[in-house]
Amino acid sequence: MYIGVLVELSNKNIDKIFTYSVPSNLKDKINIGIRVKVPFGRQTLEGFVLSFIDNVEIETKDILEVIDEEPILNEELLQLGKIMRDKTLATLISCYQVMLPKALKAKNGTVVNKKYDTFYKLGTIPEKLNDNAKKIISLFDKEDLVLKNEIEKISASTLKTLEKKGCLIKEKKEHYRTLLDVKLEPKKELTELQKKVVKEYLETDDSIYLLRGVTGSGKTEVYMEMIEDTLNKGKTAIVLVPEISLTPQTIKRFSKRFGSRIALLHSALSDGERYDEWRKINREEVDIVIGARSALFAPVKNLGLIVIDEEHSTSYKQDDQNPRYDGIEMAKERIKLNKGAKLVLGSATPTLDSYARALKKVYHLLEMPTRVNNKSLPKVKIVDMNEEIRTSKGHFSKVLISKIEEKIKNNEQIILLLNRRGYSSFVTCKNCGHAIKCPNCDITLTYHKTSNNLRCHYCGYAEKKVLECPECHEKSLNDLGVGTEKVEEELQKLIPNARILRMDFDTTSKKGMHEKMITEFGEHKYDILLGTQIVSKGLDFKDVTLVGVINADTSLNIPNFRSSEQTFSLLSQVAGRSGRSEKSGEVIIQTFNKDHYAIKYVKTHDYINFFNEEMNIRKRLGYPPYYYICYIRINSRNDKEGYKESLKIKKVLEKYLDKTVILGPSVSGVFKINNIYRYGITLKYKKQENLYEVLNKIIDVYKSNNLVTIDVNFNPIVFG
Ligand code: ADP
Ligand code: ZN
Repeated sequence: MYIGVLVELSNKNIDKIFTYSVPSNLKDKINIGIRVKVPFGRQTLEGFVLSFIDNVEIETKDILEVIDEEPILNEELLQLGKIMRDKTLATLISCYQVMLPKALKAKNGTVVNKKYDTFYKLGTIPEKLNDNAKKIISLFDKEDLVLKNEIEKISASTLKTLEKKGCLIKEKKEHYRTLLDVKLEPKKELTELQKKVVKEYLETDDSIYLLRGVTGSGKTEVYMEMIEDTLNKGKTAIVLVPEISLTPQTIKRFSKRFGSRIALLHSALSDGERYDEWRKINREEVDIVIGARSALFAPVKNLGLIVIDEEHSTSYKQDDQNPRYDGIEMAKERIKLNKGAKLVLGSATPTLDSYARALKKVYHLLEMPTRVNNKSLPKVKIVDMNEEIRTSKGHFSKVLISKIEEKIKNNEQIILLLNRRGYSSFVTCKNCGHAIKCPNCDITLTYHKTSNNLRCHYCGYAEKKVLECPECHEKSLNDLGVGTEKVEEELQKLIPNARILRMDFDTTSKKGMHEKMITEFGEHKYDILLGTQIVSKGLDFKDVTLVGVINADTSLNIPNFRSSEQTFSLLSQVAGRSGRSEKSGEVIIQTFNKDHYAIKYVKTHDYINFFNEEMNIRKRLGYPPYYYICYIRINSRNDKEGYKESLKIKKVLEKYLDKTVILGPSVSGVFKINNIYRYGITLKYKKQENLYEVLNKIIDVYKSNNLVTIDVNFNPIVFG
C-alpha cells in the first residue's frame, strides 16, 4: 500500500506531497485525512494522508506511525483547504492547519489527554434489596445514566457492591465539559417585520443573503428561525460572530433556544476544552456550531446554513499571518460544496462591498429598517471638542458629564467608548521630544500602569518604566495619549460616587473575567462600563440609556482607505447599545471633526447616505469595491537587501501585469518588527487574468532565498 503524505519542509514555507509505503501492521489504520509520522532525511515529520497511490516506480520509505484513529479532515475540508490555498497562495499545509483546533495542529503535535467520566446505568434489580440499596437505586430511576460526581455521597464501596450484584452497570464516557448550562425557553413571537424577512428567506432559494437590520431590530431572532428551519431539514448550521461579541449574553440566547445541540468554539476556551467541542462536532453529536472566524471550518456534515453576524467586522479576515484568508469568501466556497446550502450575512452597517453586491442583486437583500416593536433609535448628540477644549482640559465635555450624572441619579446605566484604534499611551520626553520606542520594532512602546512597564504591542518586548530620558537624561518623561486607566481616574474624580467598570485588554485577559464583568454589569452592580472597542458589539443591557464616545476621531486618522467606513460602523454599533429596552436611549459623541460625513451620518442613523458618499470617494480614488487590492510585503533582516529585492519584484510585476496599477515599493505600515525590515508593494486591478500565476512564480523564487521572504495579502485590512 502506498500513500501520498503532505509534509512541511523546515520552516521555509514549503510544503509538498511525498509518496510513502505502509507496513502491513498499519494498513488497517490508514484513512484519507489522518495524520501520520514519516521519516524525512534524518528527521521525523508529521504529515496529512491525502491520497492512496496505485503504482509506484520510485523507491519509497515506510511510514513510522499513525497518529489519528479517525480522520481529522473530511473530504469536504480537504477540498476547501485546496481552494483556500489557491485563493491565498499560502502553503496547503498552513491552510489545513488553520482549520484544526490548536490541540491537533500537525506541527506542534501536542497530545491532549482525553478525560473520562464514570457513569452508572441501571442493570437488573433483584426482588430482595435492603432499604439503603433501594434508595440508591431510586436515584437512577429518572436518568438512565448518572454521573458519579453527582452521587458522590454514596460511598464507593456501596456502588461497588451494587455493581457486583448487577444492579448498576459502570460505564466510561468521554468527558465533555458542559458549557451551555441554560434552561430551554419558548421562542419569542416574531414581529411582523421579522416574519416578513424570514418568509422571504424561506420562500426563495438564493445562496447568499444580506440581512441589513438596524441595531436592535432583532436579527438574532431571525437567525434562530433560519437555523431552526435548517435543523428541521436534517441539516447543520454554523454561526460566526466576532470574538468580542461572543459574550455570555449571545451564547445564552442561542442556548435557550437550542440547548445541547450547540457546540461552542472560541478563544476563551482552553485548548483542551476547544478540542472537546471539536470532537462533539466531528462525531455528529451537535448540529449547530457557534464560534469566531475559524469555526467556519468545523467538521459538521450536511451543512445547510452559515450565518455571519456583524459581517462588517474585520475580524473575519485573517490579516496578520498566512494563510491570509477572508472568512466570508471561504464561507461562500463552503456553501458551494454543500448542495442547497445558504449563507446569511447580517449587519446594521454592512461593508461597502457587501451592500454594493446586494444592490447589484449578487446577494439577496433582506432589510429591517426599524427596531423591534418600533422602538426609536437613540437620539445622537455631537459635541464639538474644538469648542470644549477652550474651557476645559480633560477628556470629558460638560454635557457628557452632566448627562452621566443625570442617568446615575435615575438609576440607569452608561456605556463609554474610548476609541483606541491606532492609538496608544506612549511616552515622550518633554525636554527633547524623544519618544520611547521598541528596540526591535519601529513603534512606540505603550505604557501599562498596572504593571508599571512599557510594552511593545507587536513583539511583546517589555521594559520597566524609567523617569529619565535615555536621550537627553532629563527627568522629564511624560506619558501622552489616553489609556482607559487614565480616563477612568479622571472620570472618578469628576463623579466620585460613580461605580465604574473598566473593560479592556488588560482587565479581561484573565480567563473568565470578560464573562464576569458582563454579568455584573447586567446585574447593575456598576453604573458605567468604560472600555475600548470591546464594549461596542453584541451587548444588550436593558438599563443602558446613555452611550458616550470619548474620542470619535482616532479611528478616522489612521492612514487606510477604510478608516471612514470603520469609524461609521464602530460609532453606529456602539450607539446601538443605548435604549434597547423600554426606556429610550441617548448617545453623545465627542469629536474634533463634527462635519465629517462618517460622523454626521451617525447622528441621523443614515447608512444609505453614508454608503453613497463613501462609494463616490472609493470610485474616484480607485479603491474597493471598484478595484481589487493586493498587498505584497517584502521582509528582510537586511534593510538594503529588502529594498533591492522590492525593486526587482516591482520590475517583474510591471513587465507581466499589463492591466494593474503598481504602487511602491514603500516602507510598510510598521517599518520594522522583530528586527525584520518590511517593504510593501500595492496592486490595484479590476481584471488581471494572469495575476495568480505571476505571483505564484515570484513566491516560488523567494522560497529558496535566505535573506528575503515575501507575503501576499489579497484585500488587506492593514497595509503593514
Ligand atoms: P440586533 O442583533 O438586531 O441588534 P437583537 O437580536 O439583539 O437585535 O434584539 C434586540 C432586542 O429585542 C433583544 O433584547 C431581543 O431579545 C429583543 N427581541 C428581538 N426580537 C423580539 C421579538 N420578536 N419580540 C420581543 N423582543 C424581541
Ligand atoms: Zn517590538
